Amino acid sequence: MTDSVSGTGDPDGSSGCFFCSIASGAAGVPLLVDGENVVAFRDIDPKAPTHVLVIPKRHYRDVVALAGAEPAVLAELVTVGGRIAGAEAASGPDAGEFRLVFNTGASVGQSVFHIHGHVLAGRPFGWPPG
Ligand code: 5GP
Ligand code: ZN
Repeated sequence: MTDSVSGTGDPDGSSGCFFCSIASGAAGVPLLVDGENVVAFRDIDPKAPTHVLVIPKRHYRDVVALAGAEPAVLAELVTVGGRIAGAEAASGPDAGEFRLVFNTGASVGQSVFHIHGHVLAGRPFGWPPG
């Protein structure tokens, strides 16, 4: 598999990947969750009161690659996202509700090619997304 492990100089972007540095702790970004296979941290440019990124520790370029290679890690990522939303949006009629976004490809807004789930909560969201 060409896109699985950070720091291997693979052709799919893990070499020099900043999100790999965050996941390993080397970047010094505060982690809300440091799980077995995933970490979570706040987005540097939040689009909602809660805007947390959940990423696998191992490098995959997008959610489809992660699902194909390590579906249990994708499930862990989703579970962690739900737990964060439950903790941060803990009261009121919308408690625990959140939007989970995986931008997949540059044309739909993916700018970092280390898969990340955006956990967004704390305000109403429109549909369809822009
Ligand atoms: P994408 O556009 O790929 O779906 O999402 C990338 C996200 O990563 C953006 O929301 C952006 O604000 C966030 N981001 C980019 N660089 C950094 C960084 O250095 N630190 C943090 N915490 N978030 C970042
Ligand atoms: Zn990476």
